[in-house]
Amino acid sequence: MPAPRVYKTTAIVLSRFDLGEADRVVTLLTPHDGKLKAIAKGIRRPQSRLGGSLEPFAELHLVLAHGRTFDVVTQATVRHAWLALRDRLESTATAWYLSELIERSTEERAPAPRLYDLLVDALGHLDAGLPPGRVARWFEFRLTDELGLRPEVDRCVECDRRLEADEPFRWVPALGGLLCAAHPGPIAERASLSGAGLRLLKAYRHMELDAVASLRLPPAVEAEAEQAMRLFVRHVLERDARSLAFLDEVRTGR
Ligand SMILES: [Zn+2]
Repeated sequence: MPAPRVYKTTAIVLSRFDLGEADRVVTLLTPHDGKLKAIAKGIRRPQSRLGGSLEPFAELHLVLAHGRTFDVVTQATVRHAWLALRDRLESTATAWYLSELIERSTEERAPAPRLYDLLVDALGHLDAGLPPGRVARWFEFRLTDELGLRPEVDRCVECDRRLEADEPFRWVPALGGLLCAAHPGPIAERASLSGAGLRLLKAYRHMELDAVASLRLPPAVEAEAEQAMRLFVRHVLERDARSLAFLDEVRTGR
């Protein structure tokens, strides 16, 4: 019987579940093999060589062997543990949210080097202590860009006209973003977005994260931008992210 083919990759653990007595199945994002599931055999035994290395949203160097159902993790070393991120509950909850967005917007075994770099960048920013909400919005913009589904924040999605700063508009995620007053369109939108909220979305669209992270903003404006993007992402992914409930719980518990 030929030896199983072995390969090396960097990977980020997106999620995991326990299997049987001592095994664990991890969903990984890799740059060149995209999303894949792999099994870590015996990892829950105290003497496992892999023990402790396959933590959620850690970046790892892995050696994997092709397997029938799942590839098998044979070696794992930690490249980025991002320990500071794990010390803060809101950063941790946000990292779960970003990982879930990636997991749900990628196909198994489809190369995803840009999404991989995006997630590494975002986790690094959370670890460095940037405000989690700002990192999350920045990430949502970049992710929807990469998926070819970027929200339109400058022009009307119907007539393609650039909106004036003081012009009335509606935020209609189902249509892809801004709608000017000239079109009937759907009226029942749950997100009401003020001019200030829209300016913040434009900042996420056009500015680097460092610049957006340093803006001083009323919490109500941030909340509007968050709600507007939540509706947009829900539309793109066709349902709410499960991890949002945890993120909301973390924040109301502060
Ligand atoms: Zn229009």
